[in-house]
Amino acid sequence: MTDVSMIIDGERRAAPSTFGVVNPATGAVHAEAPDCSREQLDEAFAAASKAFVSWRQDEDARRAALKAASAAMRAAGDRIAPVLTAEQGKPLKSAYMEAAGSSYWLKYFANLELPREVIQDDARARAEVVRRPIGVVAAITPWNFPVMLATWKIAPALLAGNTMVLKPSPFTPRSTLLMAEILSEVLPPGVLNVVSGGDELGRWMTAHPVPRKISFTGSVATGKHIATSAAPDLKRVTLELGGNDPAILLDDVDPEAIAGKLFAGAFDNSGQICSAIKRVYVPESLHDAVVEALAARAAAAKVGDGMDPETELGPVQNRPQFERVRDLVAEALAGGAKAATGGAPLDGPGFFYQPTVLTGAAEGTRIVDEEQFGPALPVIPYRDVDEVVARANATMFGLSGSVWSADPDRAGAVAERLDCGTAWVNAHVALGPHQPFGGFKWSGLGVENGPWGLAGFTEIQVQYRAKG
Ligand code: NAD
Repeated sequence: MTDVSMIIDGERRAAPSTFGVVNPATGAVHAEAPDCSREQLDEAFAAASKAFVSWRQDEDARRAALKAASAAMRAAGDRIAPVLTAEQGKPLKSAYMEAAGSSYWLKYFANLELPREVIQDDARARAEVVRRPIGVVAAITPWNFPVMLATWKIAPALLAGNTMVLKPSPFTPRSTLLMAEILSEVLPPGVLNVVSGGDELGRWMTAHPVPRKISFTGSVATGKHIATSAAPDLKRVTLELGGNDPAILLDDVDPEAIAGKLFAGAFDNSGQICSAIKRVYVPESLHDAVVEALAARAAAAKVGDGMDPETELGPVQNRPQFERVRDLVAEALAGGAKAATGGAPLDGPGFFYQPTVLTGAAEGTRIVDEEQFGPALPVIPYRDVDEVVARANATMFGLSGSVWSADPDRAGAVAERLDCGTAWVNAHVALGPHQPFGGFKWSGLGVENGPWGLAGFTEIQVQYRAKG
């Protein structure tokens, strides 16, 4: 039995079986979630297909529904935040912010224009480019921001007139199921169906004949599988994948002054942000001062159960990820790197890891070359700007990056040279619904958010009227 249900065709639905959901602060199963059967997935897609017929027709009704969805999420913090913290691990305050962020995103899209453009109006013809919905969308999300990243898909997809079947990560299904229940009170049946289950359910979804688009956020490895699975049926795909973001400090920064922002950019959500700082490049002359300032900030961070109001950083979300972070750091230390602070798990049954700042790890070490996705950050010295730009770009990742300087123009000129979807100056993880978010190279295909993200949930149609 489980207290959360799937939502199929507007109704709460149990599954034939359930699976356990672990609280990462204790390492123990704390609740159950429905394990969707193949027949139930078929029902969800059938419901989405049926709902598409009328949902696509009335843009005003869709906007009204998204506004109601925004209001419902704004009022839902007390319901969603504790469920999100219990399964994801993040501090309760951050969980409230995630529910509020979802409301904000829904409101933004409720008011975003669906573009129409007249491209010809002369004696021969009037031609207009309009955006049409694609159909049923299969949406698949990861475990780091389950509510927020689901919203990044739901809001634009529904505004454009599509309907959806969404699957959260098996590590964090419950907050998304609860969100679906809340939204089912304001959306017509079948418009948003949410099912839960393991990776196998994701594979069934991407191979299913009904969806015309797959919108996926998760790892590069899974993204590649999904692109392959979409190909035979030419399903449209948007892939938001991993990152290995560099932060490049120029030689005029004040290490003390930027340490707080750098720390937040790397360690918020315990480092489990696709676009978190994953490697810091500092001029040799500033190396020790930056390491000292970052290590002091990291050592002062209160790590604990997200339910504790004092907690700044929660646990790593799941055991495989915890073991990965632990192993990447251990491997770097064995190879000669040093921990300026941290460097080991914390005691306790949960997946707690000490906020860690590493020195002496460079390219060729996995924690520098790969995405660690956890609370451990290598600081790497460099000699000149051309060299560091080349090193920052010498990766198949290309999600985002940042450059830090007392002179924003100087930093901006370097930031322009980064091969990535977002290049920040004196900031990192500064995101908004109006900013297209996506990655170069293996970090993704297509973007989410803003009019560009909305366009990804549409097909272009030319409406051509001959004259005379
Ligand atoms: P993951 O790829 O393991 O899983 C993501 C989702 O895909 C889950 O719901 C999972 O059940 C499902 N899935 C797994 N295998 C599948 C398959 N073969 N077919 C269909 N679905 C399948 O990723 P994760 O570990 O949950 O998330 C962490 C990763 O997500 C990190 O790499 C992170 O950088 C990335 N991420 C990217 C963004 C972005 O916007 N670019 C945002 C957040 C996280």
